[in-house]
Amino acid sequence: MISLLGETMESLTGRLGALGHKPYRARQIMEWVHEKRVGDFGSMTDLPAELRAELAREFPEQQLEQVRLSGSKDTTRKFLFRLPDGQFIESVFIPASPALYGETSDRKTLCVSTQVGCAYGCKFCASGLRGWKRNLSPGEITAQVMAAEQATGERVDNIVFMGMGEPLANWKNLSVTLEILNAPWGFEIGARHITVSTSGLVPQIRELADHPVPVRLAISLHGASDEVREQIMPVNKKYPLKELFEACAYFTSRRKQKLGFEYILIAGVNDSLEQARLLASHARRLDAKVNLIPYNTVEGLSWERPSETRQQEFVRAVRDGGVVATIRREKGHDIDAACGQLRLRVEDELAAAT
Ligand code: SAH
Ligand code: SF4
Repeated sequence: MISLLGETMESLTGRLGALGHKPYRARQIMEWVHEKRVGDFGSMTDLPAELRAELAREFPEQQLEQVRLSGSKDTTRKFLFRLPDGQFIESVFIPASPALYGETSDRKTLCVSTQVGCAYGCKFCASGLRGWKRNLSPGEITAQVMAAEQATGERVDNIVFMGMGEPLANWKNLSVTLEILNAPWGFEIGARHITVSTSGLVPQIRELADHPVPVRLAISLHGASDEVREQIMPVNKKYPLKELFEACAYFTSRRKQKLGFEYILIAGVNDSLEQARLLASHARRLDAKVNLIPYNTVEGLSWERPSETRQQEFVRAVRDGGVVATIRREKGHDIDAACGQLRLRVEDELAAAT
C-alpha cells in the first residue's frame, strides 16, 4: 500500500502504460484506493484478474506498522509507526484543532513526519537529537494519513507538516506528496488546510511559493534577531533573517493566505520583551500571524518554558505591536511531550532489550 499511496495519477498511468494498460485503469485504481479506501488488489473487482496479479507484483504489500498509540478518544493521539526498513516515525492526530493563528476549527488534523530524524539540529528539538537518517517517500508520508484514519475511524481534513524532519529538505518528495494530498483523485484536502512548517530553507520557500498547490506556510522563527536565533537554530547561519524575510515576502506576494510565524517560548533564551517587540515588527511588515508555543520539555535537554506571567506579557507585547498572536495550548503535550521523543524512547527500549 505504501508504494501505491505514493503514486500520482500521472505516474500510475505511466507505469500501467508501460505494462500495456489503458489510462482508465489508473483512474479505477485511484478510485479504489482513495474513494473507497480499499488497498487490497484482490478486492478491486472491476479489474481483470490478470491485472490484479500484475499489480500485486508491481506494488509490494508494505504497510506502516502501528507500534504505539498514546492518548485516548476525543483527545490528541500520538502514533508511533514502524517503516518497512525498521525505522520509527511519529504522527499526531488532533480531533478538534486548537486555535491555530487565531482560528478555532473542528477539523481533524494530522501532524505528519517527513524524515526519519532531522539534520538541522535545532538545540531545543528532540527530532534532531540523533541526527538525520533518511527522507520519507511520498507513500510513507501519505500512508500516515491512511493509517491514522483507519485507527481512528475519522477522515483527516487538515494536514500540518510539523512532525519529525524538515519538510523542505525533502523537497522533491514533499512536492509530489502535496499533489497527492490535494488532488481530486487523491486525498482531496483543500490547499488552505495543508500547512508546511519550515525552519527557514530559503531556496525551497521560493519553490513552494511557485508550487501548483497553494498551501499555507509556517516559519519556525523562535528568535527575532540573528543573535538570538542563531544560538538555538544553526540554520540561521546559512540563511539569516534578512534572507529569510525576503523569501517570506516573495511567498506572500504569490499567495493570498497569511504567513504564520511559530515562536517557541524558552525561558531566558528568547522570551525578552525586546524580542517580542522585534517579532511584532517583522510580523507586521510581512502581514504574518504569530503562534506562540510554550516550550515542551525534552528529556535530556535543560530548556524550560517561561512562567505564565511572562508568557502573558510576551503575547501582550506582540499584540501591542499590532499583530494577531495566539498562545498554543497543546492538549497533547502531556501524552506526547515534544515530537520526536516517543521515537527516541522506543529506540532506547529496543536497544536495551537486545
Ligand atoms: N522542521 C520543521 C517542521 C517540524 S518541527 C520546522 O522546524 O518547522 C514543528 C514545530 O515544532 C517547529 O515549530 C518546532 O520548532 C517545534 N518544536 C520542536 N521542538 C519543540 C519543543 N520541545 N516544544 C515545542 N515546540 C517544539
Ligand atoms: Fe529539525 Fe524542525 Fe526540529 Fe529544527 S525544529 S531540528 S528543523 S524538526
